[in-house]
Order: sequence, then structure tokens, then C-alpha cells
Amino acid sequence: MRKKIVAGNWKMNILPSKTNELINLLMSANTDKIDVVYCTPFVDLHTAISSTKNTNIKIGAQNAHFEDKGAYTGEISFDMLNDIGISYCIIGHSERRTYFNDTDECINKKLIKAFDKNITPILCVGENLDLRNAGTYKDFIKNQLVSDLKTISKEKIASMVIAYEPIWAIGTGLAATSDQAEEICSFIRSCIKELYDADTAENIRIQYGGSVNGSNAKELFSKPNIDGGLIGGASLKEDFLKIVEAAL
Ligand code: PEP
Repeated sequence: MRKKIVAGNWKMNILPSKTNELINLLMSANTDKIDVVYCTPFVDLHTAISSTKNTNIKIGAQNAHFEDKGAYTGEISFDMLNDIGISYCIIGHSERRTYFNDTDECINKKLIKAFDKNITPILCVGENLDLRNAGTYKDFIKNQLVSDLKTISKEKIASMVIAYEPIWAIGTGLAATSDQAEEICSFIRSCIKELYDADTAENIRIQYGGSVNGSNAKELFSKPNIDGGLIGGASLKEDFLKIVEAAL
């Protein structure tokens, strides 16, 4: 039985001086049966870690560099995240792939480093509208998985989370239907079975992300292959608590 996981992706939205306010609003998230993670901007991480200290809420980052240290002006390493007690990191979000040229090769290096530093990756994959309309989205997602997970062992990937995030559903208010989301989450599981084995596929957690809110979450999370959600806009408001409830 897989434990569901609901993660908020705060993106570049919350000022450090407002972090406590948002954490306090979301503090009552029910973490009895599921994992709840807040992926905050780098500058909010310290505050988020200290204000959730006595709870089961986990704090994650939204990106990191694959090198440990050195002359990489403006970058943050997984080593640094580990040093301040970060448990999760989103890797390969479509916004990173699109605006910051995070290629599959670079995402693969980031995944390898995250595992090395005991940080659980939330790997994002998903197609754009053109690929969906062309009907080639499954091939595209499979290629992303093959490239991103290259050389990574089944022991390592067992702990990771994969988020299916169709780009056409992110921030648009047009969530995938539960059937569309289930189709691809189930397909991702079958790719993991093919790349690794049945046990690994059965145990890995696969989220859906893209315009999830308090009203559509229950139906999405009721599908057998959807193990929770990666939530953007709705993670910045009280609605997030309803999404967490929907996963219980
Ligand atoms: C995201 O960016 O990961 C996301 C799912 O955003 P939203 O929930 O706002 O669509």
C-alpha cells in the first residue's frame, strides 16, 4: 500500500517575511496518513524548517545544482540543502525545462546527486499541448523517463516520487480529467516496470499535478495509480488543506 503524498510548489511567490503567515495558515494539514511537503523558494527554506519543526510537515526545495560546490555563481547545491535539513527537491519541473534549459541530461545529473545527498526527488514529467494533440505524448513521457533515470538503480528510485504534470494543465485552471491523469500515471508505472521490475513499479509513488484544487482533488486521488498531487497555485491558500483532506 503506497502512502499518498501531497506537495505544494510555492514557486517564486512568497516573500521570506510572509513565510510564517502561510505556514501558520497551512499548519493544521493532516499528516496522520499521508506525506505533506512544502517546496518553498530558497530564501524561505530556513524559516519554513524552523516553523514546522514540531510537525510532520516536510520542507522541500524547487531545484538545485548537480555540483557539490565551486564557481557556480548564483547556484545552490544538494549538499547545502541537506545541510539545512531539507528532505525533498522538485527536479525537472516544466518551468525549469522551458525557461532555464534544464535538459534531460542535466536532470539526470541532478537526480543522481539528490540520491547521493539523501534528498528525495520529485521528478516532473509531462507533455505540452502540441504533443497531446498529436497523440505522441506517451512516447515523449517514456523518453523523458528513460533519459532522466539513466544509470539510476532500482534501490535508489524506490524512494523517489514522480509527478505527471501535463504542461497544458499547469496554472491554466484546466486540470486533466481523472481518466486522463490515471491513464498517464498508470503508463508511467508500466514504464517503471519495463525499466526496472514489477515490485519497483508497484511501490513508487506517482503524483498528478496541474490545476488541482479543493474541488477536483478527491476524484483525481481516488484513481488507483494516482498517489497524491503536486500543487502550484492552490498551495498558497487554505484550499490546500482541502486537497490534503482529499488524499486521506
Ligand atoms: C505546478 O506548477 O507544479 C502546478 C501543478 O501548478 P498549478 O497547480 O498551479 O497548475
